[in-house]
Amino acid sequence: MIALVTCVVIGAVFGSLVAAVADRLPRGLSIVSPPPHCAACGSLIRSWDNLPIVAWVMLRGRCRQCAAFIPLQFIVLEVLGAAAGAAVGLLVVR
Ligand SMILES: [Zn+2]
Repeated sequence: MIALVTCVVIGAVFGSLVAAVADRLPRGLSIVSPPPHCAACGSLIRSWDNLPIVAWVMLRGRCRQCAAFIPLQFIVLEVLGAAAGAAVGLLVVR
């Protein structure tokens, strides 16, 4: 069970990374700098507000500072990553 949960968490983190890369590279931005920030107000996103899936649900898909909607691509890719992690986990944990 721990291996399955670990795979889901790793998948969600990987999905979050893919979402960040998909958001930044087309705009010519580095994937490491500037640190995660709100596209609407520019405020930095705290580390606990950057937890894949959990933070999106806790913030109801909005920025903590300005309440702008967080683009759906982030939660979709995080959930897809978690699902892929679950699939891998189910194959591994037999
Ligand atoms: Zn904001």
